[in-house]
Amino acid sequence: MTAPARTRNGYARGRLTVHDDPAKLTPVSRALRAAGRKVVLVPTMGALHEGHRELIRHARSVPGNVVPVVSIFVNPLQFGPNEDLERYPRPLERDLDACREEGVELVFTPSVDHMYPPGSDTRIVAGALGADLEGGPRPGHFDGMLTVVAKLFHIVGPDVALFGEKDYQQLTLVKKMVRDLDFPLSVVGVPTVREPDGLALSSRNVYLSADERPRAVTLSRALREGAAVSAHGPAAVLERARAVLDTEPALQVEYLELRDADTLGEPVDGGRARLLVAARIGATRLIDNVPVQL
Ligand code: AMP
Repeated sequence: MTAPARTRNGYARGRLTVHDDPAKLTPVSRALRAAGRKVVLVPTMGALHEGHRELIRHARSVPGNVVPVVSIFVNPLQFGPNEDLERYPRPLERDLDACREEGVELVFTPSVDHMYPPGSDTRIVAGALGADLEGGPRPGHFDGMLTVVAKLFHIVGPDVALFGEKDYQQLTLVKKMVRDLDFPLSVVGVPTVREPDGLALSSRNVYLSADERPRAVTLSRALREGAAVSAHGPAAVLERARAVLDTEPALQVEYLELRDADTLGEPVDGGRARLLVAARIGATRLIDNVPVQL
């Protein structure tokens, strides 16, 4: 691979410019906006797969003269002490190739020191929803996630930010933070990209063994079959999904919940709901969710 050409503000790879320093990225992004470009941010932790690529393609399809910006940062604040921070995959060169293939113009790859220099201990608090569902077994996870997302929003200053529905509670909390704290941008959710058998794509799927991989599909099958009986009401949805989950003894289900699609509170009769599941299979923790019309 040829060495990337240095430019004044980072290094260029084809049309792609990579910055690791927030102080360098911010003026570039501001200048692009001042020139009439629409900055669309796709925040990621890297190890880019087809789900991330779909977010990037979605970014490019936003109306206007779009600059797709991807951030790649494995955020230590959102990992618990016994989680996979150290072994989380970080294939940066492959990720940059994927970004170039998808027509990304700017990539932001800060180091932990760039994002959290010594003494940087101010945090966003996720509120009650932050302690629910994923927040139960992962205390502080959403505070850490919202803190980095708020920083990314300030550093990049996007017009639009895209998040996957795959992480539905994250999407809901980011929308809520933007509303509650008056961030001047719009947050858009993108439907989950799945393997042909239904498994939601995730950077963590690489942890699944050959034996676990086919078993993991039970998660999405349970959600699909549950959603299919929504005409019979919320109890039927949960009962059907639970029955499917119970067919796979390797799955340790942490929660299966039907919630209101906007607030993640109690589902409303006749409203849009979301069926969400979290389960462990061996050492790997997987989450998934689907829309349900009640
Ligand atoms: P991550 O790198 O896991 O933090 O994910 C970065 C973004 O990609 C988040 O907004 C995720 O919700 C989204 N994402 C992850 N997996 C998928 C998927 N299978 N389909 C759509 N979006 C996804």
